[in-house]
Amino acid sequence: MKELSLSNPELSIEQTDQGVEHYSVMEWIRQAGIPLGILPVVELIAPGLKVFLTSRLGGISPPPYDSLNLGRKVGDRWSNVAKNRKLLLEAVGIPSRWLARAEQVHGAEIAIVRCGGLYRGVDGLVTTSKNVALLISTADCYPVIIYSPSEGALAALHVGRSGAAGGIIEHALEILTQKYRIDTDHAIALVGPGICRKCYTVWKKDALRFPEKVRRYYAGNWHLDLLSFCILELNRGGLKTRNIYNAGYCTSCRPDLFFSHVRDQGKTGRHWTLAMIAPSP
Ligand SMILES: [Zn+2]
Repeated sequence: MKELSLSNPELSIEQTDQGVEHYSVMEWIRQAGIPLGILPVVELIAPGLKVFLTSRLGGISPPPYDSLNLGRKVGDRWSNVAKNRKLLLEAVGIPSRWLARAEQVHGAEIAIVRCGGLYRGVDGLVTTSKNVALLISTADCYPVIIYSPSEGALAALHVGRSGAAGGIIEHALEILTQKYRIDTDHAIALVGPGICRKCYTVWKKDALRFPEKVRRYYAGNWHLDLLSFCILELNRGGLKTRNIYNAGYCTSCRPDLFFSHVRDQGKTGRHWTLAMIAPSP
């Protein structure tokens, strides 16, 4: 396994390429040999929330899935994927029966869940239950977590270009505010890791589905800033800028750390983002 060389930056306000403000907060730890992105600052603000983000490091898969590929239908051997999942779940102490997984069909549908399982036809999950770990699998698309500490309501979303344009973030905030009556003034959100604007080129017809602020044409291509779009959607739904956090990494810019569907032309693995309301001690 490659040696991990990551710095843990101080919490500071940053701007996306489009000048959208956010905080960058992910820190790296190593548990049972697996590097994990965690959010100590966010968990301090939002007690009860637990988030783990994986990188490509710490597993057993050979190239181009090296090494912690958690995606099943990407070309890697199932035995490798199963072993990687086992290693991860042991490292984070989450039993597999707790995993609630969205099928992820690049849509904007969301399921409300109370137990583990595969939820078909959705790209987002909402829960108020403990002993459920919401799971989002990505390799360039953005995982987005929204949590309201006072109501104990948690959402995990898979936000790619289609789901974003389809309004999945707005949809999640509708469920959280209407069904669970969350106070968006005190809700927090995490966005990413995902592909940055410089790395993400799209067809014109796809770019034009997004506001002018997050798309730009240069060097012969349309570029889409999905990170800025996610943050703006969260803002529009009522979240305060001070409560929106960015993992701080582009999956495509960092081949040493992340899989990237775009950069690796589809032959690559998947990371997991796990979010749960911590069980009572
Ligand atoms: Zn990039």
